[in-house]
Amino acid sequence: MKKRFVSSLLMLSILLSCLIFSSCERSKQKYSEYSFDYFDTVTTITGYATDREEFDAVAAEILTELGEYHRLFTIYHRFDGLENLCTVNELVDGAHRTVTVDRRIVDMLLYAKDMYEKTNGHVNIALGSVLSIWHDYREEGMNDPAAAKIPPMDKLTAAAAHTDIQNLVIDEEACTVTLTDPEMTLDVGAIAKGYAVEMVARTLEERGISGYVINVGGNVRTVGAKGDGTPWTVGVENPQEDAADPYFAYLYLQGESLVTSGSYQRYYVVAGKRYHHIIDPDTLMPEDLYLSVSVVCKSSADGDALSTALFCMSPEEGLALVESLPGVEAHWVLNDGTRVTSPGWSGYEQQGS
Ligand code: ADP
Ligand code: MG
Repeated sequence: MKKRFVSSLLMLSILLSCLIFSSCERSKQKYSEYSFDYFDTVTTITGYATDREEFDAVAAEILTELGEYHRLFTIYHRFDGLENLCTVNELVDGAHRTVTVDRRIVDMLLYAKDMYEKTNGHVNIALGSVLSIWHDYREEGMNDPAAAKIPPMDKLTAAAAHTDIQNLVIDEEACTVTLTDPEMTLDVGAIAKGYAVEMVARTLEERGISGYVINVGGNVRTVGAKGDGTPWTVGVENPQEDAADPYFAYLYLQGESLVTSGSYQRYYVVAGKRYHHIIDPDTLMPEDLYLSVSVVCKSSADGDALSTALFCMSPEEGLALVESLPGVEAHWVLNDGTRVTSPGWSGYEQQGS
């Protein structure tokens, strides 16, 4: 009898704690935080927490870690006492130094080399010499639209002779990086943001934190489900400016990422034609096939690298690549607004969206 009483008491207490737990879960509130400090874009953190204080503490940790990645991966800024990709790119007496760097730089560069192989060279972080020419012409064209020009092809071809990723030499043990071609530079714009977001999301996951979304300039990574256990709804932007609905579709995500590369955000106009910022390594020109390419997969690093690479591939070649990669789905918007999706994409899409 006593045993039965104890066991029913135990059952009751388990039931009660479940109820208390679920009511705590239910009472979580949604909070948001913004920053304009990293990766030359806006960062939005959204998350469910029991109070503002709890959310602010997590958001501050996310921003601190993102800031560290930003300082390590930027090719545009030096920081006192820090070796980063900007100092790796620098020339000293006509040559690049062998630079001892943070392990996080080595890991990202090894990842980028791996993605170069997986995408058949369509995303190449050693394209810096070519991309910096486009970058300069774009900046000048935006500052003075009447004088906007596209770079001469002979200038681009000469720079393209210095984009061999084999000349990025990494010593994993010693944690050093050397660019053995003095005219080669790195540009990690296609990968670094998504990679950094992924690393920060994994830190949260390792600590058992869920119910957050980190969005750095369209690189969206969900960490677990929402506070009530249901999936996040994440919109796929409609790249057509006159569209009635700013989103093409809404996806259900819980733990996955959605990354979009578009020709509609960073571009300049020459003689009435738009020239955007994703450069096909074969033609050395902005790829002219799509308005946007979006990728859903677990890792936002893969999403970032793949969305840029797919942008530079024909729909057929891109679809074959996506289908060869488990857990990766993609959505293309062709120049005329037609949508193409990989077979598993619809599994994420909210019906009727
Ligand atoms: P965004 O940064 O707008 O999210 P992407 O992830 O597609 O877009 O990255 C575009 C950036 O990557 C460009 O600004 C340029 O610095 C770099 N880039 C452009 N084309 C390539 C390419 N084929 N391979 C590697 N990097 C590229
Ligand atoms: Mg990218």
